[in-house]
Amino acid sequence: MNFLEERIVKEGIVKSGNVLKVDSFLNHQMDVILMEEIAREFKRRFAGKIISKVLTIEASGIGIAIFVAREFGVPLVFAKKSKSINIDGDMFVAEVESFTHKNKNQVIVSKKFLHEGEHVLIIDDFLANGCALQGLISIAESAGAIVEGCGIVIEKGFQIGGRVIRNLGYHLESLAIIDAMDSESGTITFRDQEEK
Ligand code: 5GP
Repeated sequence: MNFLEERIVKEGIVKSGNVLKVDSFLNHQMDVILMEEIAREFKRRFAGKIISKVLTIEASGIGIAIFVAREFGVPLVFAKKSKSINIDGDMFVAEVESFTHKNKNQVIVSKKFLHEGEHVLIIDDFLANGCALQGLISIAESAGAIVEGCGIVIEKGFQIGGRVIRNLGYHLESLAIIDAMDSESGTITFRDQEEK
């Protein structure tokens, strides 16, 4: 088990509806030492890639992405959720369905902060059905940026997102991949990372 899997087993709570709660260390209270370790691991997994910007989505991706951007020494841009239907031409826009809230949001990034030819690393906390990642990929590509990779802290491998993103040919690295989890017994089964 890697450092993250150990922490998930120790503190993760499996909820009904295929939701894993890790709010004691990842997305409510944050263990910043763990965040540093996560950032170093992404740096190792994307070694050799030229990254000029980290891109994530508010809210829970931001905390992690800050550490990753710091590790790569590049700026971080986060897509904002917007209720407004009057989005002007200064924004890149994508529609993203929220896995946890089950609603659709327009997510926006200002054209000032994402440019043609930039080398983007997309970061998020969870990967479930892949809507958030696909929205971020679409925003990066509308800007003419190059998606160098996608880094996910926890992928729920029994949901379709990971397969979709890998089949589209993107370099996806997930630090922990959960193949099964059960809310009654609380058991969590991880994928052997070599299988990826
Ligand atoms: P997707 O768009 O891939 O269906 O879902 C990813 C987004 O939903 C992530 O940005 C994350 O915030 C949220 N999410 C998905 N599954 C979980 C989960 O099991 N636990 C938590 N805390 N967030 C999740």
